[in-house]
Amino acid sequence: MDDAAQVDGHSQAYYDDIKAKFAEARDLRLKLRPEGSAQYTSDLAGPLAAYAIDPWADEAPPREPITDTVECLFIGGGFSALLTAARLRERGVESIRIVERGSDVGGTWYWNRYPGAACDVPAYDYLPLLDEMEYVPSRLYAKGPEIFAHCQAIARRYDLYGLAVFRTTVTSTTWDDAEKLWRIGTDRGDAMKARFVICANGTLSKPKLSKIRGMESFKGKAFHSSRWDYGYTGEDLSRLADKSVGIIGTGASAVQAIPRLAAAAKELYVFQRTPSGIDIRGDRPTDPDWAARLKPGWQQARRMKHIRGREADAAQRAELDVLGREEKIRRQENANIDHMMRIHQRIDEIVEDPATAEALKPWYMFMCKRPCFDDDYLPAYNRPSVHLVDTRGEGITQISEAGPVFDGRVYPLDLLIYATGFEVQKTGIYNQIRGRDGREINETYADGIRTLFGVHTSGYPNLFIMGGYQASFQFNLTFMLQTQGDHIAECIAMARARGAAEIDVAPQTEEWWVQEVIAHRGKTSRNADCTPGYYNFEGEFNRRQDGNYNGGFLQYYEHMQQIRGELAKHFVCA
Ligand code: NDP
Repeated sequence: MDDAAQVDGHSQAYYDDIKAKFAEARDLRLKLRPEGSAQYTSDLAGPLAAYAIDPWADEAPPREPITDTVECLFIGGGFSALLTAARLRERGVESIRIVERGSDVGGTWYWNRYPGAACDVPAYDYLPLLDEMEYVPSRLYAKGPEIFAHCQAIARRYDLYGLAVFRTTVTSTTWDDAEKLWRIGTDRGDAMKARFVICANGTLSKPKLSKIRGMESFKGKAFHSSRWDYGYTGEDLSRLADKSVGIIGTGASAVQAIPRLAAAAKELYVFQRTPSGIDIRGDRPTDPDWAARLKPGWQQARRMKHIRGREADAAQRAELDVLGREEKIRRQENANIDHMMRIHQRIDEIVEDPATAEALKPWYMFMCKRPCFDDDYLPAYNRPSVHLVDTRGEGITQISEAGPVFDGRVYPLDLLIYATGFEVQKTGIYNQIRGRDGREINETYADGIRTLFGVHTSGYPNLFIMGGYQASFQFNLTFMLQTQGDHIAECIAMARARGAAEIDVAPQTEEWWVQEVIAHRGKTSRNADCTPGYYNFEGEFNRRQDGNYNGGFLQYYEHMQQIRGELAKHFVCA
């Protein structure tokens, strides 16, 4: 296609110019932070230990080590554990234990209680087990407290508190081949045993901090967004009325907290490295008439309709396929750019100061970073008390006793909030998992991750991994987790029904899945073209199999259904 050709009223040259700007923004960032993931630390010990303190619980009281044996043990007590445990209960499993770092169930929703915390996925899809719990969320986008309460309600309904162990971190999970069970060590000196172990420790659960020169010297108050100190801010943030507050980062957490901080703080300084794309939220309370008309099974039907709907998109995609690869990619990219330019336009319409509006514009393709949806974020910048400090890709690299330093200027603060995100899960975060031959699981993965569906790894019998790599990515994460949870419960039920002491994936089935993952990854250079962030491992090289399965969620779901229909063929039971 030549430059003069028109697409949606724009010439191809228009799109090529924008793509060139995207590439420039990415190259600048890669140059400014060549350390990749090493720019962050999640080792919150020594002078950084205060950032890891659980603000929702007092110091854990001493207790005797636990040395008993349970049938199913979950590492982590968030949605992965809750929805899988519910399925196990439905199958008659009685002995279920959750071991959790926090002092309650809830995972993400236990830790993340910053002001404005809410889920960006419609609650009717996101909150799991709505049919079973006979619960209809109060609004389209549920807020954190409602989601946390739903987690607690599931734990009560399925009787999961009885054997649960809180304020406890699993540090070792070792297969005992003689006894055919897992031995679980913890930071509380426990020596538990379990027949089945489910790693349900989340995908983004360990807070990370940007390593910034002088950060330990800051004399004001500081905390991470997932460890909010309401003792300092006041429950309603009213104690910030005479405070200068700064926030580092403008990802999904910051985007939700900033409007609330803007309304409460005397002054708010937002230290931005890369802007998020902010789309319309349009939240609203649940229509009671609609809720009253819902029939049993409505949530599963809704979720399935959603993924089958994507199948229709697949038919449209087939039309594109006949165009040839280059032309197809070009059209998809142009549509993506149109979307991002609408995001830019919205900023111009809302943000009054032209320089601030310009600085808030994201220069990358849609989905290079987590898209955000908020109706209060952009208007916050129209308040005279809110100051955007755009670091133009560099980020804050120095903090003095008084506050962050940028371009030679010190920003004195009373409170500094790190909204700098979370370490992307490696299997066995905090924990060392040793399988049949004593091999640590990350050693097994040294030449590339090997799993079936991201859930099973050969040589690690009776172990199930949730939310890890080689699973399908779903914006509605809980649907993916429910799919895995249903599958895991089915595998455990099969082992129980056969009286099998162990169940392990057959090596050839694992190899089939690894090849499936490889076949569906890296079709385009899209990931590498993106601005750095945790979605693309901060721009670092990764083996093709060390990521999500990109064949589509429907295909993932159907592969799983098919394997479940013939479990005995794909698993070794002994
Ligand atoms: P992110 O990893 O998305 O964001 C971290 C932010 O910190 C980025 O803006 C990053 O900039 C910035 N940053 C890091 N170091 C510096 C520095 N030295 N100076 C300035 N800025 C810096 O973390 P979040 O906690 O925001 O979100 C994590 C994930 O959690 C989300 O992607 C989402 O999956 C989930 N989440 C979901 C929510 C929902 O459903 N509503 C709400 C909140 C979180 P840069 O972009 O340049 O790297």
